Amino acid sequence: MQNTINYTIIPKDLAAHLFEVTLTVATPDPEGQVFVLPAWIPGSYMIREFARNIVQMDARSNGKKIVLLKLDKHTWQAAPCDHALTLRYDVYAWDLSVRTAHLDQTHGFFNGSSVYLRVAGQESLPHIVDIQRPDDAAGKSWRVATALPELKAKRYGFGTYIAQNYDELIDHPVEMGTFALATFNAHGVPHDLAITGRVPNLDMARLTADLQKICEAQIAFFEPRTKRAPMNRYVFMTMVVGDGYGGLEHRASTALICARSELPVKSQKEMSDGYRGFLGLCSHEYFHTWNVKRIKPEVFAPYDLQTEGYTPLLWLFEGFTSYYDDLMLKRSGVIDEPAYLKLLAKPINGVLRGSGRHKQSVAESSFDAWTKYYRQDENSPNAIVSYYTKGSLIALALDLTIRAETKGKKSLDDVMRMLWQRYGRDFYSDGKKGGQGVTEVEIDALFDEVTGLRMKRVLDRYVRGIDDLPLAKLLAPFGVELADTRKDVKPSLGVRTMRDGNDCKLANVYEGEAAHRAGLSAGDVLIAVDGLRVSAANLDGMLGRYRVGDVVPLHAFRRDELMTFNVKLGADAAPQMALAPQAKPVAAVRLRFAWLK
Ligand SMILES: [Zn+2]
Repeated sequence: MQNTINYTIIPKDLAAHLFEVTLTVATPDPEGQVFVLPAWIPGSYMIREFARNIVQMDARSNGKKIVLLKLDKHTWQAAPCDHALTLRYDVYAWDLSVRTAHLDQTHGFFNGSSVYLRVAGQESLPHIVDIQRPDDAAGKSWRVATALPELKAKRYGFGTYIAQNYDELIDHPVEMGTFALATFNAHGVPHDLAITGRVPNLDMARLTADLQKICEAQIAFFEPRTKRAPMNRYVFMTMVVGDGYGGLEHRASTALICARSELPVKSQKEMSDGYRGFLGLCSHEYFHTWNVKRIKPEVFAPYDLQTEGYTPLLWLFEGFTSYYDDLMLKRSGVIDEPAYLKLLAKPINGVLRGSGRHKQSVAESSFDAWTKYYRQDENSPNAIVSYYTKGSLIALALDLTIRAETKGKKSLDDVMRMLWQRYGRDFYSDGKKGGQGVTEVEIDALFDEVTGLRMKRVLDRYVRGIDDLPLAKLLAPFGVELADTRKDVKPSLGVRTMRDGNDCKLANVYEGEAAHRAGLSAGDVLIAVDGLRVSAANLDGMLGRYRVGDVVPLHAFRRDELMTFNVKLGADAAPQMALAPQAKPVAAVRLRFAWLK
């Protein structure tokens, strides 16, 4: 039998939120086997130091205790030994997010990057994991949802699962519990939807029907001829909570968190904003199955999970995915054209609100994701631009440009398909670590090659430069009018506020606007406007009694010191851009139809 790396995962103490992990290495490094836990998880670009949740660890070989030496925050080395070596450690799992691990009496969830130590030098061996049922009354009715292939386990059962290497092992999160389960086929591939958390009267049939349309549209998008999906099964694992939002992509599954109110109720027929948002999240993570899980930036092929992986390309991997997530809702028929154009206004208004867009390009935003986008603070709107939202507008602008200049013969879709064929389709086909990533230079060249246009100047200007996208001009040939719909300009402080108890706290102070010019700061708590007490609920109403240009005294606490400011109210700088489709001319309607079809 071939050498393998073997783990067992035991949900050992549900109330203490502890998974016990054992890891056996048949042939440890004779120099002293090194073990490493990742510092970050692919798809979430921040150093999280998962090893901080390892509570205790010991090592044994041939019945004897083996000394473990800690080399750094996430690296251990066992003393040299001649026989199989077994590590045993506990992992504290009490973070309800899609990025780490969570365990209690209601369910267990883990990402491999939180629980599986990597056996240095033996990553390309098959990795087998025995996922065990908790020895607790609560666990009697539990099942398992994961896209990890079963070795000796029934589908949805506890037992052994197998990955061909470490990279594959940690790309399959595992959910265990009493989740609701539905299965549908998308172009012949089984897709599971596992929903954890109580959802009274959930309309599972509607949810699976909508998801099926979205999945089939995406499979057909990348493989229009064969309609072949890149995986042989797929799992949507969803944790439902009172209030929450998040998703993380994997090669054959996604972990999602959503608010209960977003999921459809049996009697409800209309498309609520929340449900549309949830479908958009599913669509986003599913699109990543191609774009970032297989078409990857060079630095992620393979990942180095011990340190930051710097790439200037997240505007393509996250931004383009953000463009296509909602577009796929329209193309699959889940939403109609007016609903889509309404969704498109959101990132347009979002990007225009912050002056950070004139200081940082999306290429820079991608590169610094680790310290800026993922670690935002009160000054972020003034300092950075989102590679998600501006990236999605770049995708829109490129798509419209290519369609208009090639008279509808080519589009961004062709660029995505070429990226897929050249870098993505065979990424995992060697069964080992994976294929080659794509570089910035190759992406520039690929745009020209596919479209027959000269695109470098455009990419320089909007991707590596900081210019605003000329979206109104680009949308016009498609019979879509983009305009600011504000009728009158409201007086404004130029801040974003947040509720702090009943108090009105400044969350962001926009650079150059009224509050900034008067000396107010993020974190200040507003007390009174013109001598009248202000709360989080009535600030807008109070400001509405004044005109732009009026000077208003304002009281605020900074820490515990009362301060007074005279604020000259400015014009509200938040745009309300909206996209209005036009019925004529026919050529424009035809172009629009082809774009959104
Ligand atoms: Zn994403």
